Formats: sequence, C-alpha cells, structure tokens
Amino acid sequence: MSIILGIETSCDETAVAVYDSGRKLLLSSVIFSQVKLHEIYGGVVPEIASRSHLEKIDIIIQAALDQANINLNNIDYIAVTNKPGLVGSLLVGMCFAKSIAFAKNKKLIAIDHLQAHIFSSFLKKDNSNNNSIEDVPFPHICLSASGGSTVIYYVKDFNNYEVIGQTIDDAAGEAFDKVAKIIGFGYPGGAKIEQAAKLVDFQDFYNYTRTKNYTKSLDFTFSGLKTAVMYDLVKKDAYNLQSGPVWEKITPELQNKVSSSLLVCIADIFQAKIELALKLYPEAQAVTFVGGVACNNYICDRLNSVTNNLGKKFISPVCKFCADNAAMVAFLGAQKADQNKFSDYYLDVLN
Ligand code: ADP
Ligand code: MG
Repeated sequence: MSIILGIETSCDETAVAVYDSGRKLLLSSVIFSQVKLHEIYGGVVPEIASRSHLEKIDIIIQAALDQANINLNNIDYIAVTNKPGLVGSLLVGMCFAKSIAFAKNKKLIAIDHLQAHIFSSFLKKDNSNNNSIEDVPFPHICLSASGGSTVIYYVKDFNNYEVIGQTIDDAAGEAFDKVAKIIGFGYPGGAKIEQAAKLVDFQDFYNYTRTKNYTKSLDFTFSGLKTAVMYDLVKKDAYNLQSGPVWEKITPELQNKVSSSLLVCIADIFQAKIELALKLYPEAQAVTFVGGVACNNYICDRLNSVTNNLGKKFISPVCKFCADNAAMVAFLGAQKADQNKFSDYYLDVLN
C-alpha cells in the first residue's frame, strides 16, 4: 500500500499525478499543456519547453497534491520520467524529483515514457467520475501512436514486453501534423484533421497509396504518405514545390477531403497491422491503443470493431490519458515499487 507521486516533463506537457496503489485509485492528475507557447512556431521549441517546465513545475506539483488532499509527507515514492524526450525538459522534472526525494527521504523511481504509455491502458476508459484502475488482461497487443513514435508491442506483463513492429521513418502523429500544416490547420493538427474528416463522413476521396506490403509486415512507414498527399495537392494546383501551399486553392472543401482521405488511409493501415498482429499472436487476449493519436474516435471505432470481430477485447484510455500525462507515470511507478526497482541519485536523463 503506497502513495506514488508521478512527474512527467519529457516534452511539452508539465504533468503531475498521485496514485494510491493500495486502493488502486488515481487521486489526482494535473496537466499543463504548453501547446499555446509553441503553436506560432509550428512545432515544439526545446528551449521554450524547458523554461516553461521550470516556471510551472512547483505549481503543478502543489495542484496535484491539493487535488489528492495530501502533502509531500504522505508520499511514499516519487516516480519520474527520465527518458526518452527533450533533455532540457526531462532535466527539470528529474532534478525536481530528486530534490523532493532527498529533502523528504523518499525513494526515487525512474520511468521510461514509452513504457508508461504501454500501461496507460489500465487508466480510466470512460468519462465517468470513477478513477479506479481496471485490469487489462495479459498477454495483449499494444499499439502506441504519438507525435514522436509509433510502435506495436506484444505485452506479457509489466516487465516483459517486446517490440513486434515500429515505424521506420515518421510517426503517425507526425504524418497528421505534417499534412495539417500543408493544408493550413497549424500545429498540432491531429484533432483538427479528425474534425474536418467528420464533416465529410470519413469518406476516402483520394485513395492515397498504401505501401505495397502494408498488410504483410508489422512495421510502419508514413513519410511516403505525406509526400503522396503533397504531390496530389500539386496535381490539384494547391501546392507548389518551390513556394509551398497555394492558399487560395486550399478551400474548406479541399481541407475536409484531404483530412478524411488521410484519416481513412491511416486507419486502414492500423487495422491491417492489428489483424496481422492477432494472427501472429493468437494467444493475445486484448488489443490496447494508446498515445496521442488514440484520442482519435474514428480510429478507435475501427480498431474496436476489428478486434471484437476477432473475439478479443479492445481497450483505449480516455484522451487525457492517451496523450502525455503523469497518471501513467505514477501507475507504472507503483508496479516498479512492487518489484523493488528504485533509482539512486546518480539517475540521469536520456534522449
Ligand atoms: P508526443 O508526446 O510524441 O508529442 P502525444 O502523445 O502528446 O505525442 O500526442 C500528440 C500527437 O497526437 C500529435 O501528433 C497530435 O497531432 C496527435 N493527435 C492528437 N489528437 C489526435 C486525433 N484526434 N487524431 C489524430 N491524431 C491526434
Ligand atoms: Mg506531447
């Protein structure tokens, strides 16, 4: 029975959460998103990110403690993301965690951000007020898709999981963000692409080329897709290879059609990978879908149907726990504490 404080500052969210492992209850989760600070630059600016973490970290920690109705003395362990991410950003969270651990004589737990995403599937799956943790059956297949990575894992338990497929170039979120930028949606673009696609009922207008082997391998490639969209826009006189987007040609109708075709293409690719993974790992009990791209309801619905049709459970956390958060850090910290996996003050960050 322990109370774990989780701290996450790997990229552009300052996030802190408190998890009670005895009651299997998430006591608080507070997230400050820096998206407004970076959006005018069209992407995350590392120097701005680390400075913002520094300004916010103590406020967010206090907010998470207040929301959980506890103080630092009630904490047993401090779990902190130390890899992978932006070094300057990771350092802020890790130095803060070390300082609290030292001052309050608490044990420190190092968390790998990608591993935390895998087990975020245990967090809340609906919008009810119920913050208890529900078990996810092992073994299962996990598809983790965000702005920085796209990976499929075969997950046997908390310590035992392997990468069975991954992107060889861009991440899926990156594909959404890059196309969003070309058609004038700004950064980050995933959510806007989904809204636009909904307006035209998720139809596939342009049938962008899927790579030849996309149903045969568990690896992904998305950089060609971005290029396919770009060249299709060139054909439509809406993109110039020298000067970029031709804004007067990029009408709302074109934006919607591009968004919808892109979303259907990525959903088709994800569906094919899940079908193949379940064929190769028939003992898997469930499929989980995590990471920022799992906020996409259309993709979730598609993966839910295909998984259920194959007789397996589909599990995806609510959007705030799909994207970067500290609840997953505190929750994984609890599993590591159970296995006595603590770190000393020599802990360092890795990008
Ligand atoms: P990272 O930590 O790698 O930046 P996150 O887990 O924070 O990734 O997720 C951010 C990514 O998720 C962005 O690329 C964003 O476009 C994408 N995203 C967010 N919401 C959606 C959505 N509804 N549909 C598709 N992609 C989305
Ligand atoms: Mg992020």
